[in-house]
Amino acid sequence: MIEKAASCEDVTEPGLMPVESALARIRSLLPQPDDTAIEEVPLDKALGRILSRDLTSPIDVPGYTNSAMDGYAIRAADIPDDGQTLSLQVAGTAWAGRPFNGDIGSVDSPTAVRIMTGAMMPHTLDTVVIQEHVEMAPDGATIKIDSTVKSGSHVRHAGEDIKQGETVLSAGEHLGPAQLGQLASLGINRVPVYQRLKVAFFTTGDELRSLEEYAGQALAPGELFDSNRYTLRAMLERLGVEIFDLGVVADNPDDTRDAFMRAAETADLIVTSGGVSAGQADYVTRTIHEIGEVGFWKIAMRPGRPLAFGTLGNSVFFGLPGNPVAVMVAFYEFVQPAILSMSGATKTQVDVVSAICQSALRKSAGRTEYQRGVLSLDAEGNSVVESTGKQGAGRLTSMVMANCLIILPPEVDSVVPGQRVMVRPFFGMV
Ligand code: AMP
Ligand code: MG
Repeated sequence: MIEKAASCEDVTEPGLMPVESALARIRSLLPQPDDTAIEEVPLDKALGRILSRDLTSPIDVPGYTNSAMDGYAIRAADIPDDGQTLSLQVAGTAWAGRPFNGDIGSVDSPTAVRIMTGAMMPHTLDTVVIQEHVEMAPDGATIKIDSTVKSGSHVRHAGEDIKQGETVLSAGEHLGPAQLGQLASLGINRVPVYQRLKVAFFTTGDELRSLEEYAGQALAPGELFDSNRYTLRAMLERLGVEIFDLGVVADNPDDTRDAFMRAAETADLIVTSGGVSAGQADYVTRTIHEIGEVGFWKIAMRPGRPLAFGTLGNSVFFGLPGNPVAVMVAFYEFVQPAILSMSGATKTQVDVVSAICQSALRKSAGRTEYQRGVLSLDAEGNSVVESTGKQGAGRLTSMVMANCLIILPPEVDSVVPGQRVMVRPFFGMV
């Protein structure tokens, strides 16, 4: 028998770092954006940016008391007693954008004003009766109401949504469609945001052929198209960072060092794929050992066990494995939260949800596994998840078919159908 050294084949081996510890180590080492890394952008360019300070409302919302319905504005004091009805004179109409400025008459003569949704409530009137609940005289000059009208109903009061001076959005919040609409509703047209993070990335591998040169061509045996650079670019673009694509780098020490030096000149964060294992052609981790600092590179997870994390000059470095699925899983679990945190975001990870697993899942205890799944609702409305099938780390098809990752913690060793599992949807934060 040959005495075997530790390898990826082993479920656990001494020195493997649990996912949680790796995340905690990464968090503790990430630089946070400082106050100089701030810019002001117009609202129509602010989608996906992260707010750099709390914003307060310069106005009350709504700005004036108005009707929530089409109907008639009246005085609550005129609502008749139980079982009675009352006739009111219609003094005129209040339109949205065109308030009623006429005479409402004295308290002794019951008066109503026809009012549209969003129109300003005439002064001294405080209740709206919806149009379906009145009886109108044929000439429209009077209406009749009954005792079922509720005092103060269907009126939106000035400041009831937001008070002037109230904090509406907090520093670190992601600006999405709702946040932008809210700022617009307050008349705020420019927002202070953190500057975009600069992220450089490259792929490594002598076998890789870039699409720029080889798209559509037949490749020689042993060659393959560089797909990771497109996956990486897409995942980065979604995060709204400034990207620097440094291409494919060959498996040799000089090219690897050159690429890292170029990346470190501009980037806050560097991401690579491939070359992080212990193979003879793996130069990424070795190079960072020489010119920077590597924190760790073996995680108790699958896919994605070899993952290098460290620093190079002022840049943070993530060396992802080469396998296409491992690239995505490691990016979503480690790199995306790091990028969001360095970008100033408060929320850095998509929430997990619980679902009933409909597939039998095989797994080894001792490591966290990220299996690809399809999350849906069953006929009873329960969240259920199914495996996409074969889970090889090179099979991008499993990611294409999936809409979530099924996250199985180290203590779990198998899942039977009907068991609850934790799922991280691909839709969510960004
Ligand atoms: P490595 O981590 O460099 O040993 O790469 C592991 C495997 O991932 C390789 O055998 C390739 O098949 C694949 N691979 C590495 N880089 C890429 C890439 N950029 N695009 C597609 N597949 C890749
Ligand atoms: Mg390689």
